[in-house]
Amino acid sequence: MTPNMLHYIIQIMTRKATVYIQDTCIACDNCVRLAPETFALTPDQLMVYVKQQPESDTARHRCRHAQAACPVQAIGFR
Ligand code: SF4
Repeated sequence: MTPNMLHYIIQIMTRKATVYIQDTCIACDNCVRLAPETFALTPDQLMVYVKQQPESDTARHRCRHAQAACPVQAIGFR
């Protein structure tokens, strides 16, 4: 296990992870449909941004599902 992976797991376990979007986003809308409380399209619909960090277990679960469904791996946790 790499140090980065261990750090990620600790963040998830302690629920301190912050979700972010990288500029590789292609605005496919998957994450907005899967986690609408967290993600939203920008007004020009060219990218997605995090409108609210996930605060509930359900919201965090949806974010992880959205991360898995992102075709360009643009969703990250830090
Ligand atoms: S799933 Fe990925 S590529 Fe699609 S809108 Fe969300 S961040 Fe962008």
